[in-house]
Amino acid sequence: MPDRLTTYRKKRDFNKTDEPEGRPVKRRSRRPIFVVQLHDASSLHHDFRLEDEGVLKSWAVPKGPSTDPKDKRLAVPTEDHPMEYKSFEGTIAEGEYGAGTVIVWDTGTFRNTSHDKGGKEIPLADALRRGHASFFLEGKKLRGGFALNRFRKQGGREMWLLVKESDQYAGGKLSDESVLTGRRL
Ligand code: MN
Repeated sequence: MPDRLTTYRKKRDFNKTDEPEGRPVKRRSRRPIFVVQLHDASSLHHDFRLEDEGVLKSWAVPKGPSTDPKDKRLAVPTEDHPMEYKSFEGTIAEGEYGAGTVIVWDTGTFRNTSHDKGGKEIPLADALRRGHASFFLEGKKLRGGFALNRFRKQGGREMWLLVKESDQYAGGKLSDESVLTGRRL
């Protein structure tokens, strides 16, 4: 089985960055986790990551998640990240891939709520392959139903939209600080 972290490792020099190198993680029966990092790189963005089959599936979200179902937030896929990345906070050195400061903006568990048109549940990995996934987040800031939908796939470049679903958790402001340390960028 090909190592899903090959691209992640290829982009980084672990002598020069404190980011985790990543090791294989066994599947466990616990709830899957998500993490959103705020990353002050060449442009400020949020990195949205969902656990799937032992790695963190990742999207860069230039405007960050919104609690308003009317906001459709562009989400551009990035390489799978290792599970240890969920607690990474720090500064990636200048000249290295993703140079800039990272804080853990939100984290928690989620439930996959992806269904097909007939209402049958679809495993998250399949839903992501099809380009339509929905999930219920239980974070410190983000709560309730969200969806990720792929709207363009051309020349190897995918574009997705991250949208809050309409439910009792919609609306409300989102603060900027780290949920792990209280730090701001
Ligand atoms: Mn990033």
